[in-house]
Amino acid sequence: MNAILRNTLPVRNPRTGEVDYHITPPTAEEMSAKAKAMRAAQVEWAVAPIEHRVAVMRKWADEIEKNKAAITKAESADTGRYRGAKETPDAVIWGIRGWADRAGDIIQKAMLEGTSSIMPHIKYRSQLKPYPMLGVISPWNFPMMLSVIDATPALLAGCAAMIKPSEVTPRFVEPLMETIQKVPELAKVLTYVVGGGETGQHLIENVDIVCFTGSVPTGRKVAEACARRFIPVFLELGGKDPVIVTENADLERATDAVLRGTVYATGQICFSIERVYVQEKIHDAFVDKLVKKAEQIELNYPDIHKGHIGPFIFGKQAGIVDEQLDDAVKHGAKIRTGGKSQNLGGGLYMRPTVVTDVKQDMKIMQDETFGPVIPVMKYKTKAEAVTLANDTIFGLSGAVIAGNDEEAYELGSQIDAGGISLQDTTLTGAILRDAEKTSFNLSGMGGSRMGPASILRFFRKKALMTNTLAPQDMREIRELPLA
Ligand code: NAD
Repeated sequence: MNAILRNTLPVRNPRTGEVDYHITPPTAEEMSAKAKAMRAAQVEWAVAPIEHRVAVMRKWADEIEKNKAAITKAESADTGRYRGAKETPDAVIWGIRGWADRAGDIIQKAMLEGTSSIMPHIKYRSQLKPYPMLGVISPWNFPMMLSVIDATPALLAGCAAMIKPSEVTPRFVEPLMETIQKVPELAKVLTYVVGGGETGQHLIENVDIVCFTGSVPTGRKVAEACARRFIPVFLELGGKDPVIVTENADLERATDAVLRGTVYATGQICFSIERVYVQEKIHDAFVDKLVKKAEQIELNYPDIHKGHIGPFIFGKQAGIVDEQLDDAVKHGAKIRTGGKSQNLGGGLYMRPTVVTDVKQDMKIMQDETFGPVIPVMKYKTKAEAVTLANDTIFGLSGAVIAGNDEEAYELGSQIDAGGISLQDTTLTGAILRDAEKTSFNLSGMGGSRMGPASILRFFRKKALMTNTLAPQDMREIRELPLA
């Protein structure tokens, strides 16, 4: 079919509000044909020694390094931010090389071998067989990073991977595909498809395992489609992460950590802090300090190279955040600095917005915000703080800033979420290859994306069992009554 006749999708520029890019999703038939070819190539990819896959992935990292300027430019156009975009290729390269360093060891340790504890004449050996095709569906907030975060360990495990990034931020795909093409062994088992929800559904039809990162409502649709096919799905969804600041917390440290954890990347991080619970005795001093610091944050407008925070990437998100602020004010909350979104040169921006006098049942304390909003609420006792922190449908992560590490640990242990930062906020990325964490409640489903489990979830596990009895001993067994 002629590409011009096909449905193209417009892509809005987050800094100008203009549509300045289009994508043309592949047809369902094209996707199936591509998947078929990748499945054929995956057979060789999976049986090759791990050293081969490690070497190929390292070559890919080198190619990304060479194409950094083009990738940064595209990621910057996708997200409306410069510094974050510039750091992205390095973070991806670091991720590929880091997993390449560890993959062999992790896989080796998971290969079990021994004697049955029930029947000592039975010896066993385990085998790990990668799922042939991984499908990745990713969101717009960190477009390139979140498209490769699961595919990297999966490729090292021996899967092929087809990735569908968000239709809101697809520009990075062109320069990244150039790097994949430069590594022919990789190009046979890794590809991107661009498109929206329909393309996501076609993807699910063509793969054996799915990693989805995005919102709860879409996650539910993806999980349902995977359940119909009986294929495993890993869901990394939204959050409404709390931080508890105790009476003895250092105010300088607490306000710095809360500000960074709430407004970094314009609050468009799944594990952003979205609810701040502060002990009542220090509440006012905390708020005063936080407001002062929040007022020093600058927008990266008009110069993308200056300032701290960029526009909303997804235009509609600004409306969602404004609506939550309106609702809070209507029910008695006070905006201490910042306020609703503003249109600057076509982009939609929001200053760090500190809100006090909030109540737990307000939308701003219950729904995911995904913007630079800092709602602060008082508490009296630690037990109350824990109850408030756990009063949520989510459970992605959380944080505690306390007078000492033990106090922080004790409170952090009681928060129902997968990643708990102590004496700071948003530390989750630090343990990517080390410790495992899963999401609680509606924040996700499936095993850990982090730590050794990240690679091991891409294997089907086999056990090969040998009966080591000699034939004469087998005879005795045969003569046993069969009742
Ligand atoms: P979204 O759910 O709207 O879209 C995510 C992806 O799903 C996109 O690629 C989209 O095209 C695709 N999609 C849409 N409908 C689909 C369908 N019916 N079938 C298959 N695929 C479909 O999410 P978003 O707005 O792009 O991202 C923001 C959300 O992502 C927030 O809730 C945020 O918290 C969450 N997020 C979570 C994590 C995490 O690791 N837990 C990380 C980043 C973002």
